[in-house]
Amino acid sequence: MFSAPSEPNSASPSSSSSSVAVQSAGNVHKIKFCQWCGGPAKHEIPNGEEKIRAICTLCGKIAYQNPKMVVGCLIEHDKKILLCKRNIEPSYGLWTLPAGYLEIGESAAEGAIRETWEEAGAEVEVVSPFAQLDIPLIGQTYVIFLAKLKKPLFSPGPESSECCLFELDNIPFDSLAFSSIFVTLNLYIEDVKSGKIKFHYGTINKRLGTGPSDIRAFTLDYHLQV
Ligand SMILES: [Zn+2]
Repeated sequence: MFSAPSEPNSASPSSSSSSVAVQSAGNVHKIKFCQWCGGPAKHEIPNGEEKIRAICTLCGKIAYQNPKMVVGCLIEHDKKILLCKRNIEPSYGLWTLPAGYLEIGESAAEGAIRETWEEAGAEVEVVSPFAQLDIPLIGQTYVIFLAKLKKPLFSPGPESSECCLFELDNIPFDSLAFSSIFVTLNLYIEDVKSGKIKFHYGTINKRLGTGPSDIRAFTLDYHLQV
């Protein structure tokens, strides 16, 4: 099903160590001011460290930037899955799984359930973890759970313009919002066809020189499945 990626199901560790090194640089946001005292930040490698960090020139605190976790649900219902059409940027008007940033104070499963309620108005029960997909370049990790509707009810929240159940043959692959969703849905369809739903880990490496809107311009590396 992976028509676009050049190395769709590589089971071996990343095919090119040099590409990993490039990717690991990532897109780090340039911090100008200290989040604690408002002082101007300088950008240097702190003593004993290896990466350039934003260091406050007044209070000396270091602003560490770390990846964020995005949590969401792949909801199965009557052999269909629930997708939401985005009513916000980025990827306005494109389809996605209900998913969003994990909040402090909640577990990944709780966050996925909350996001599903907010974006799809659906009460769900998490069934099992389905995929962890790391995107090093943009510092995100997606954790997607398989889930089922507690009641056969859903309706778009403020961040969605529509929510629909799609048969697997009718998933709108040409208007999906993100590479992570493209990968998740392809893995799920492959599992359904093979008769065994697995857990997947993988790294999505965007191909250099491609834009964020080109969601098929990636390789799925280090794909492990159990
Ligand atoms: Zn400061």
